[in-house]
Amino acid sequence: MQLYIGIDDTDSKKRLCTTYLAAVLGERLAAFSSVQETRLVRLNPNIPWKTRGNGAVCLKIETRDLPRAKSETLKAVEDFSDLDEEGTNPGVVFYRGVEPERFESFYYRALREVVTTADAEELAEKNGCEIHRWKNGRGVIGALAAIGADLGEHTFEFIAYRRPEYWGKVRRIDSDSVRAMDRATRPMTFNNVDPETSQILVAPSSPCPVLYGIRGKTPESVEQASKMIGAGEPIERTALFKTNQGTDAHLVSCSIVDAKPESSVIVCGHVSAAPKTLAGGHVIFSISEDGDSIDCAAYEPTGGFRKVVKKLREGDVVKVYGGVRKTRNLTVNLEKLEVVLLQKYIEEKNPICHGCGRSMESAGRGQGYRCKRCRTTAGSKEFIQVTRELKQGLYTVPPRAMRHLSKPVG
Ligand SMILES: [Zn+2]
Repeated sequence: MQLYIGIDDTDSKKRLCTTYLAAVLGERLAAFSSVQETRLVRLNPNIPWKTRGNGAVCLKIETRDLPRAKSETLKAVEDFSDLDEEGTNPGVVFYRGVEPERFESFYYRALREVVTTADAEELAEKNGCEIHRWKNGRGVIGALAAIGADLGEHTFEFIAYRRPEYWGKVRRIDSDSVRAMDRATRPMTFNNVDPETSQILVAPSSPCPVLYGIRGKTPESVEQASKMIGAGEPIERTALFKTNQGTDAHLVSCSIVDAKPESSVIVCGHVSAAPKTLAGGHVIFSISEDGDSIDCAAYEPTGGFRKVVKKLREGDVVKVYGGVRKTRNLTVNLEKLEVVLLQKYIEEKNPICHGCGRSMESAGRGQGYRCKRCRTTAGSKEFIQVTRELKQGLYTVPPRAMRHLSKPVG
């Protein structure tokens, strides 16, 4: 009998990880079932109360003991949830049907909008799901969305976990081995190392049970890459997840007027206010389309990406990709920037002397220009097209500032 198990909101910033729970549960279920797929599904990254990755999990199993599969799941949630933490509100959804696509549009809403627990429960109950909640049960949203996730476009993450006695301690990973792995396996793996800072990105900084995670395009690429990493502590267990990471699944193309707070958009427009650098190093500009405008921001942590943004000038046509936030104005927090068309700028310059190559001086009002040294003259200024330092193309923030869902360029 086929069973989909969706689980979310079991971890906190301080402890545990929903993927770890899924890894342990997968092993327990494998004793009497066939685990066909384990998914890690990232949801709306702009949800204000979510500060960690906003990831839910789903296990798809074929089991001969349904009651035991359910009880093992609920026991795992009890064992591996940080229930003492205020913001941790686990939810589990069991779906026995064979049409998980019934929840696909709900997945897209949970990825792109703000949905309520009531929405999730209503849809789950209408489709014969069994729901379990702890505390306010907000995890039901992610649990149902993970069951319905459309992973037509997908990537994989291979995660190695630490033994409990190491949780919270400094992770010992040989950085050179990660850099070598990156060189050997990219682009089949991605976001291992930040090219600007050389920072290692496979290990989280939170005190969770993850030692490292390798993201890539196929199960083989991430498993092979994992063998190249030198770890200075024992690995307790590993797990492979099929995910929507690195797919841009959260982004929706729309016009500026339809960009809503807490959504993730791709909008096109022309630069209507040139980039300004604010205190703290954030760079802000505005784009307009059909009389509507929106601010766009490249914040300080996006590093060298800001250098690209600063080269924009009024009139350039761009596509901006990112999460929409309502601060003073509606602002797109840039994840990517596509320079579609560069405005041509003409500058007036004093003519250049053919004798010495310096620019000529005015010879007086209405008298044209001259070079005193060479005694050459010219009648009028020259009009020169400004060479733009920026090139058309797609630019992205550096991997260290990238969201789990963002598709890397190249
Ligand atoms: Zn001269």
